[in-house]
Amino acid sequence: MEKKYVYLFNEGNADMRDLLGGKGANLAEMSNLGMPVPNGFTITTEACNKYYEDGEKISDEIQSQIFKYLDLLEKETGKKFADPENPLLVSVRSGARASMPGMMDTILNLGINDEVADAIAEKSGNPRYAYDSYRRFIQMFSDVVKGLSKKRFEEIIDEIKAEKGITEDLDLDADDMKKLVQLFKEFYQENMNEEFPTDPKKQMMEAVEAVFKSWNNERAIYYRRQNDIPSSWGTAVNVQMMVFGNRGNDCGTGVAFSRNPATGENKLYGEFLMNAQGEDVVAGVRTPNRIEQLAEISPEAYEQFKKICNTLEHHYKNMQDMEFTIEHGKLYMLQTRNGKRTAQAALKVACDMVDEGLLTPEEALMTVEANQLDALLHPMFDPEELKKAQPVTAALPASPGAACGQIVFSADEAIEEVAKGKKVILVRLETSPEDIQGMAAAEGILTVRGGMTSHAAVVARGMGECCVSGAGDISIAADESSFTVNGKTFNRGDWLSLDGSTGKVYGQAIKTIPAEISGYFERFMKWADESRRLQIRTNADTPRDAAQAVKFGAEGIGLVRTEHMFFDGDKIKSIREMILAKTNEQMENALKKIEPLQQEDFEGIYEAMEGRPVTIRYLDPPLHEFLPHKPEEVAELANEMGMGVEELQAKVDSLREVNPMMGHRGSRLDVSYPGIARMQTEAVIRAALNVNKKHPEWNVEPEIMLPLIGDLKELKFVKKLVTETADELIAHEGSNMKYHVGSMIEVPRAALKAGELATEAEFFSFGTNDLTQLTFGFSRDDAGSFLPAYYSAKIYEQDPFAKLDQEGVGELIQIAAQRGRATRPNLHLGVCGEHGGDPSSIEFVDGIGLDYVSCSPYRVPIARLAAAQAAIKHRK
Ligand code: PEP
Ligand code: MG
Repeated sequence: MEKKYVYLFNEGNADMRDLLGGKGANLAEMSNLGMPVPNGFTITTEACNKYYEDGEKISDEIQSQIFKYLDLLEKETGKKFADPENPLLVSVRSGARASMPGMMDTILNLGINDEVADAIAEKSGNPRYAYDSYRRFIQMFSDVVKGLSKKRFEEIIDEIKAEKGITEDLDLDADDMKKLVQLFKEFYQENMNEEFPTDPKKQMMEAVEAVFKSWNNERAIYYRRQNDIPSSWGTAVNVQMMVFGNRGNDCGTGVAFSRNPATGENKLYGEFLMNAQGEDVVAGVRTPNRIEQLAEISPEAYEQFKKICNTLEHHYKNMQDMEFTIEHGKLYMLQTRNGKRTAQAALKVACDMVDEGLLTPEEALMTVEANQLDALLHPMFDPEELKKAQPVTAALPASPGAACGQIVFSADEAIEEVAKGKKVILVRLETSPEDIQGMAAAEGILTVRGGMTSHAAVVARGMGECCVSGAGDISIAADESSFTVNGKTFNRGDWLSLDGSTGKVYGQAIKTIPAEISGYFERFMKWADESRRLQIRTNADTPRDAAQAVKFGAEGIGLVRTEHMFFDGDKIKSIREMILAKTNEQMENALKKIEPLQQEDFEGIYEAMEGRPVTIRYLDPPLHEFLPHKPEEVAELANEMGMGVEELQAKVDSLREVNPMMGHRGSRLDVSYPGIARMQTEAVIRAALNVNKKHPEWNVEPEIMLPLIGDLKELKFVKKLVTETADELIAHEGSNMKYHVGSMIEVPRAALKAGELATEAEFFSFGTNDLTQLTFGFSRDDAGSFLPAYYSAKIYEQDPFAKLDQEGVGELIQIAAQRGRATRPNLHLGVCGEHGGDPSSIEFVDGIGLDYVSCSPYRVPIARLAAAQAAIKHRK
């Protein structure tokens, strides 16, 4: 049987999201609920995938199905493509499974041409509306299908307005619109070397193809990588009969959220414009009205809309983000989807919906994106400094948080400056999808145009980044090197501070302080803790970080990188003495100096963790990292150590390795210099004994972790150094303190030989940073330079150092877990690489039954929620 690539709205439903995309599935669902949705059909995501399989060609089979459904749409609506009597105009919109900025979004009024426009003008008695619709179509088609500059079209409009001495689009009359149509077509022809397409079917097939193509544009690929969306999903295309918000003053269009997306307040929140079409509201071309004002202008439509919002929220059990159009007073629904919201709003909505009986706590947990919690944990302005500061202007508080940085005017500039280590504020007239990488790089975004639902606002909120939008007082210089606001000029590179929670803009740098967490957070995270199976530990090397992580809910430390302490104060001197020792005696002397300092560090960490488990990992990096490399530093150190400069230089040179990451590091150091493992053991055991004396109730049992192990004999060798030293110290103290020795699994050989390693190791911690490096053979430090080529070539879609490569590295982890547990059923298993704080990696780790993940302090709440979400999914 022929495969079905097209579905009428009334053939689909909300469960068909994979096939129909989010927009298509929800349009179908709203139709089924009897809501006023203009008729239409959806071309499936499978058609998009087929387009790529067929070498970027829409097959005859798919084209003929599209035309068949077009016939059906004509029958349903009683209108016909290119029929002057009753012409059908449609919108063509993309719609992937997850909403995706960066892709082609919308073309309106498709099906219009000279004859159709004239016929609409005549029949409606409203020629302005007819030619306005036509010029908009040419504009959108040229931009999104053909990639012609949007800016030039805006300039042509501005030129006509200037000629007439008017400032508002609404003051353009029918003749002006007609003239715009003519000028736009000429511009199109000049640039495309062809006439603007007049055949509606040709227009449609080109638009459909443009949607398919946009699935693979650079911005979409970037967004997918950021949001874990596989390229195999494809996008659907929605074709829908047009209804017109630009048909007169009893027409309009708007967008609204069922609750406030910035605060979560349970109150309809949105914007609309009368006598306007779709993009006008979000593009920020005109400043929209607040949704409440619709009650005065079109009371019936407003009441109906409010009811629909309520129904949709209950139906989807989630806050909704909706688009609507009013044509001659009649309301039409054009879209609904789960609304993007700030982290603060997300928690309030989740808690409120549980209180309202709409959601169970488990369901509420699934409504918040784990990564979003990040935004709650970021600094706010120091209130004292803020009090003293005078804002230079105030605009819309589009996305909360505090941001302070130096002014840049373009996304590229933002990326460049941030790469140099600067913090920047991106100042734009308005933003568009091509800006998203620069927006992500910036600390905050300030736009001159646009409302709360503008691109900048929506995208910033999604990223958890501070944004102030619609700052109409600001005027940016034509050469984009400065802006003026209320008589003050700010140049590129000047400092600016944005308060995304109040909308205030300050012309100076303002100090920030750590975030405060609301009551909703505590309540919500308690539900997460009740739902998760994985334990959450943290990677912390100092008592301060450890205490911060405990505040964020860490249940222990999964990784203390002991070498991080070596750079503190005088310690580096003793470390250098150790490295530069010429005799065993010198080495022992140096180690003796380091031991009490390490012990003190460990005691501090044990104290901060108040009896929670702490895994201490032994010295890991290649020794040359502790030595100076610049000639003047070498000379200074030689002087300090009473060595000849040349002698020291020779030693530094001798420690230099061709591949240091695969060189003399990890437990290999202990095999060469057993004194290091002995010294670290003394420090750990003494620290634990001391802490247990002070706090017997904590009953600390040290967990000692050996890095970069690859063989059982190697593990036994180093473990023996540990146990001999530890047993003697413990016996000497007359204590019965237990301690545990485990192995990191970060060399592929260790994963394969895990069954043997588990005879000696009481626990495994997967060092997925090194395991990824060594499994791919990609240097951790250099992969960033060539991975982009792999993304473009679609060989890899994700950075494997950020998101666990579940297929390759993941398989090694599974093998190691299985073989290890076969030897030692109670083997404790965790991940302490960067992946321990990444939600998709956490889901994988939960699925294969490990016991814990360990991540940086600020990612602990994210890991708690991600672990809960994983457990809920896996229980289903
Ligand atoms: C790892 O390799 O994943 C790890 C945690 O160790 P490090 O990052 O210190 O090499
Ligand atoms: Mg490692």
